[in-house]
Amino acid sequence: GRNTLQHHDGAGTSVGMPLGEHEELHLAITGDQLFLEYQPQVDVATGRITGIEALVRWNHPAKGRVPPINFIPLAEETGLIVPLGLWVLNEACRRARAWQDTGVAPLTIAVNVSAKQFADPDFASHVAEALERHGLQSHWLELEVTESVVMQDAERALAMMASLRALGVRLSIDDFGSGYSSLAALKTFPFDRLKMDRSLVEALPGDKTAVAIVSAVISLAQTLKLSVLAEGVETDAQMDFLRHARCEEAQGYRFSRPVSPEEILRLLQTQLR
Ligand code: C2E
Ligand code: MG
Ligand code: MG
Ligand code: MG
Repeated sequence: GRNTLQHHDGAGTSVGMPLGEHEELHLAITGDQLFLEYQPQVDVATGRITGIEALVRWNHPAKGRVPPINFIPLAEETGLIVPLGLWVLNEACRRARAWQDTGVAPLTIAVNVSAKQFADPDFASHVAEALERHGLQSHWLELEVTESVVMQDAERALAMMASLRALGVRLSIDDFGSGYSSLAALKTFPFDRLKMDRSLVEALPGDKTAVAIVSAVISLAQTLKLSVLAEGVETDAQMDFLRHARCEEAQGYRFSRPVSPEEILRLLQTQLR
């Protein structure tokens, strides 16, 4: 109706949303309602944590915990993703630096970046400022973008990637193999790492087609000199397959759900022993 925005939630149902949602999200960004959870990325061969992905959540005053699928699209539509993304970037860099300061092994912090952020001409300088502010060396920061982010405006994306690479940050292609993605992005854009989508990993090792696709993607990544990570790894059988297929890294509930920074520190300290 007149007073609602139609919006689709993860289950595919349509829910009426008061127009105040935009203001609510704005308040969330400025008013301390967002927080990050962190999910380890592990070396498949050794099981050691090599990186951590930062994932944003909204602690809504009335609704409680809201997952990103329910507010990132709105943030994109309204442009609020730019200040939201800036907050995420700074918070993640701050936390990565704090972990490093505890003396646990240094590790990569991975931050998701959406289309409007990547199209913002100031994005690279925001990244440089965040690294500088928190004293984090650039090679410890990895930015994750999906294929659609770079394919929207290839020329602009290439220029942005060049600026980011000049800073020394790493770039990964997220959700590879999901949706209608083609191989074009790999040919055109200088990524450092490929993250295989959970939908491919899910069917391992039983599904012959998934086995063929995942094996092909791993060897493609090797040929293109990209490191390769499997997303959404939940079972030992998937892990065994990935080890034999020489997939380098994995992330998923098999190792840890996204957790608090304190829990990450505990995991890091445990693996030191
Ligand atoms: P993503 O970047 O592909 O992140 C992985 C998602 O898969 C996360 O969902 C994570 O909790 C979930 N996941 C990890 N391991 C498993 C597993 O073993 N099984 C299953 N079923 N799921 C697993 P989450 O946290 O709900 O995030 C969803 C998406 O929201 C992310 O997908 C990313 O596209 C977006 N997102 C999250 N944080 C941010 C952010 O700070 N900025 C932007 N622009 N997008 C974000
Ligand atoms: Mg991601
Ligand atoms: Mg992903
Ligand atoms: Mg995903």
